[in-house]
Amino acid sequence: TPLIKKQSVIPVAMYGGRNAVTMLPGGGIGPELMEYVREVFKYAGAPVDFEVINIDPHSEESNEFDYAITSIRRNGVAIKGNIETKSESAGVLSRNVALRNELDLYVNVLHCKSFPGIPARQKDIDIIVIRQNTEGEYAMLEHESVHGVVESMKVVTESNSDRVARYAFEFAKKNGRKKVTTIHKANIMKLSDGLFLETSRKIAKEYPEIEHNDMIIDNCCMQLVSKPHQFDVMIMTNLYGSIVSNVLCGLIGGAGILSGRNYGDHYAIFEPGTRNTGTAIAGKNVANPLAMLHASVDMLDHLGHKPHANLILDAIHKTIAEDHLLTPDLGGSAKSSDTMNHLSYTQGLI
Ligand code: ATP
Repeated sequence: TPLIKKQSVIPVAMYGGRNAVTMLPGGGIGPELMEYVREVFKYAGAPVDFEVINIDPHSEESNEFDYAITSIRRNGVAIKGNIETKSESAGVLSRNVALRNELDLYVNVLHCKSFPGIPARQKDIDIIVIRQNTEGEYAMLEHESVHGVVESMKVVTESNSDRVARYAFEFAKKNGRKKVTTIHKANIMKLSDGLFLETSRKIAKEYPEIEHNDMIIDNCCMQLVSKPHQFDVMIMTNLYGSIVSNVLCGLIGGAGILSGRNYGDHYAIFEPGTRNTGTAIAGKNVANPLAMLHASVDMLDHLGHKPHANLILDAIHKTIAEDHLLTPDLGGSAKSSDTMNHLSYTQGLI
């Protein structure tokens, strides 16, 4: 055996007791939401310094994109808004997808939990969506084989299916969850979804204490809107994950609330759960700050700054559940800045 074992977790960057974190504001409402994060971190005294990188959505050759990768590799952790890719050319990959692929962030975790004080279509939901984050339908391998015929490749590998299933069962075990459901369309995509399903069945055998079942994606969508409480932890390929996450966010109050976490073996990126740009509402002081604030809380948790994370969570809880400062997406009339002022000034953050 080697004397020095290969280090599997790269330590996060820390200078003088403070963490350095890469901040990618992205387009649309991203920059204003990041300002709210900075404001709250300042008041909460969170020991984090941001390295801000703006990626130009119009440029095909973006130096900033390379800086972003270097910066995340150095810091280990990033917070991001949705980065637009303005080019229509098939050769230009979505920067969001490229970032996840480059850093091998193979799993996305969305905790869909009903939020007190937010009007929603379904109550008491508590579901974990674990999504394969780097391949499947997002392989972005499309071509026109002959004029008028386009082919698109969906790539499923045993190694990534194994990693994501293992992540889900380990998550369930550590967090006292009882059931894992694999979502698929293996009746039609027998090879690709078949491999994903078979791999999760294989991993499930290593966790006899956790129930495992599977469901076809179409039925899953119907069950989600009618009987969502049957789900506990769900695993699925990339595109189904995007759709299911959006359905669930819609059920508990929309795009402005939940955060999503992207993990690989070495790096982590935190962002709003539905990955929206929100171009139509940018600069209007109406965007709901919660999704990005929750992403920032996840990030503080990840860095081990639990007290600061809890301080911000408590302030959010008081502002929303007790004082009902809801933005228009939640049926309220508060401006983003009203919610933020209330959260920061009257709830003990300063
Ligand atoms: P784009 O043109 O980039 O697709 P958009 O504003 O048309 O932007 P999405 O970014 O796809 O739409 O967002 C979907 C919906 O969710 C929009 O109605 C958007 O306003 C809403 N939304 C997303 N994030 C928030 C937020 N933080 N607060 C309020 N509404 C939000």
